[in-house]
Amino acid sequence: MESSSPATVSAGHGPGPAPADLLRRLRARGAGDPVTHVERVPARAGVPAPWPSWAPAELRAAFTRRGVVAPWQHQAQAATLAYDGDHVVVATGTASGKSLAYQLPALATVLADPRATVLYLAPTKALAADQLRAVAALELEGVRPACYDGDTPRAEREWIRRHSRFVLTNPDMLHHGILPGHAQWSGFLRRLAYVVIDECHTYRGVFGSHVAHVLRRLRRQCARFGATPVFVLASATSGDPATAAGRLTGLPVTAVTEDASPRGGVTFALWEPPLLPPESGSAPPDSSSVPGQAAGDRSSAPAPGQAAGDHDDLRQVRRSALRETADLLADTVAEGVRTLAFVRSRKGAEVVAANARRSLDDAVPGLGDRVAAYRGGYLREERRELERALLHGDLLGLASTNALELGVDLVGLDAVLICGYPGTRASLWQQAGRAGRSGQEALAVLVARDDPLDTYLVHHPEAIFGAPVEATVLDPANRYVLAPQLACAAVEAPLTPADLVLFGDGAKEAVDELVAAGALRQRPTGWYWRHRERPEVDLRGEGGAPVCVVESATGRLLGTVDGGSSHFLLHPGAVYLHQGVSYVVDELDLADGCALVHVEEPDWSTHARDVTDLSVVSVRSYVDAGPVGMFLGEVDVTSQVVSYQRRRIATGEVIDTRPLDLPARELRTVAVWFTLSPQSLALAGVQSADVPGALHAAEHAAIGLLPLMATCDRWDIGGLSTAVHADTEAPTVFVYDGHPGGAGFAERAYGTASAWLRATRDAIAECGCETGCPSCVQSPKCGNGNNPLSKPDAIRVLDVVLANLPE
Ligand SMILES: [Zn+2]
Ligand SMILES: [Zn+2]
Repeated sequence: MESSSPATVSAGHGPGPAPADLLRRLRARGAGDPVTHVERVPARAGVPAPWPSWAPAELRAAFTRRGVVAPWQHQAQAATLAYDGDHVVVATGTASGKSLAYQLPALATVLADPRATVLYLAPTKALAADQLRAVAALELEGVRPACYDGDTPRAEREWIRRHSRFVLTNPDMLHHGILPGHAQWSGFLRRLAYVVIDECHTYRGVFGSHVAHVLRRLRRQCARFGATPVFVLASATSGDPATAAGRLTGLPVTAVTEDASPRGGVTFALWEPPLLPPESGSAPPDSSSVPGQAAGDRSSAPAPGQAAGDHDDLRQVRRSALRETADLLADTVAEGVRTLAFVRSRKGAEVVAANARRSLDDAVPGLGDRVAAYRGGYLREERRELERALLHGDLLGLASTNALELGVDLVGLDAVLICGYPGTRASLWQQAGRAGRSGQEALAVLVARDDPLDTYLVHHPEAIFGAPVEATVLDPANRYVLAPQLACAAVEAPLTPADLVLFGDGAKEAVDELVAAGALRQRPTGWYWRHRERPEVDLRGEGGAPVCVVESATGRLLGTVDGGSSHFLLHPGAVYLHQGVSYVVDELDLADGCALVHVEEPDWSTHARDVTDLSVVSVRSYVDAGPVGMFLGEVDVTSQVVSYQRRRIATGEVIDTRPLDLPARELRTVAVWFTLSPQSLALAGVQSADVPGALHAAEHAAIGLLPLMATCDRWDIGGLSTAVHADTEAPTVFVYDGHPGGAGFAERAYGTASAWLRATRDAIAECGCETGCPSCVQSPKCGNGNNPLSKPDAIRVLDVVLANLPE
């Protein structure tokens, strides 16, 4: 392919090559064919519906003035359900117009009843501000929409409480401000007709469990004032949105999922980078693990700025997704195609842009100038300049982190490259949705990283293009959430037996605990909060107090690492990356919660090793499947970081292993686990010496695949496998929630066990490597240095489980 000179490259406004032709040329460049699947997502004409008869003429006219001629069918359907008093969740694609579905019934009611009010909740202030603009633009008499959040000036707050009938806020403000001040809000709450919960899929895990109880507290206050508002929720597409919305609100919710909005056509290719020839991979790092010791895998988030996806320590088996994306970006730019490449980490985005520039400059000096990197950290003016350049075609290629997803409006590109599955289908479609100008087909390419979930997805297109299975999970029964939330509720009004029903499973036990701890006192009229000050409860807080990272020479605070990860990332001697700069830790002061570091870029990386112990506290539910058992229950996890390895960055060679003296830490949480009889393993051909490696490999892949079933990150989950466990007396694999009290992930895994383990088995079996690689059974967070691992035996283990487990 000849590259045009910079002066003559299409400015991006002319018709580019048809996506199918472009894709054909891209896949013809290398030796093998990296494309595992091509899906043509056809353009869809929207299905409009008439305005519902109950919508007042004034409101229809206001929407028509804003360019909404008629609602789409799903909007009308959801709006009518809500208007009729049903709690409803509308779970349709990005840009399908979910706001109209709640604005219509809420505003119709506000117009019809001069007293009715609406409370709108968004996960971010920016989204609430967007919605405020949209509602205000309708210029409806007497609605007086207003944002009420931490930024609202004191002087305006009282006016809003008294006069606004459409208040936009966030769950944190509801928790910290509105509910504690319910007396001042009584007029508003008494007349509350609708509660709108936008982007409700973001309320997941521990945060989601907190929000669920904040909503129950809201319902309780409304009920005290005689109001029973209708809840309208908007969600990204997901598996079983009605159940998730029901758990969040504690109410029966009807789901509307049939998307009737129009969309442009996209040719969507799934791309798996080729395996490298064996001689080009470096030898795997040698690791010394104690035989028979349980293999623990930590469950804490990577530090900010540390790219969880770039496994520099693992043996390179496939060509990296970053390199592959950089080549694709260079190729599309050389074709004059305006392309956006999404990369998960900042560093990754810069690597992609730099490599693409280099290859373009090699072909035509100067052509590289038409590619840039874009990330959240840039100044506003710099970002606007990049956007302008891309829209005008001065710039043809941009590599970006998800920063672009949030708040910047760049659409109408010819091609979108997605480097690594972004974690959820919602994000995937949001990114792919950047492609496509009106009336033109566009190209989207998902480039798989060496990760079990990515590998699975590029070989199972139905998981991307078929019905969604990934569900938003939360666990309102988590006692670490329930008890503090009940304390907050008790401050707002004494708790009654009826409240125990409202707050659900575990509420009675939590109240008893609070009484025993002296926080509540039981009187004939209910349970009363005993202290003068309110309990301090942070909806987003978890994992212990964060540890501050401080540069000793300057005293500068570089950032914080959550308490759970600090032993792994900030032990003395650890190499700590922060925004691309390398530091070495001198001291970790656990009492003060701070780590002292200095700038240094050694040519090794550090890898903490831990010893994990797990004991079963109780079994909540189990399936007895002959030689196989599947369990859900509470466990205590004890882990201690005991040493770290230093490895050469260039070769992965282990330099040495150094001991550490850090205290053990405990976590009571929820786990799913399965056991197999030793006989069944022997029958399946797993030698007893290979059992630890088989279970360990199955555990890694199972953790990697859980995000397929539940919206979580593999860093939210931990695991442990052992050839014999004291509590189960059998070969066992445990997968647990990495949050105190559980977050709902293990529970979802248990509920979908056969589908989850089937996907795990397929991901391992379909990986083309011989002995295991990061795409299947190796884990970037293994506390045992990925040793022992047996790929073929992991498949045998999972076959035994699947053969016995009922569907
Ligand atoms: Zn593999
Ligand atoms: Zn491991």
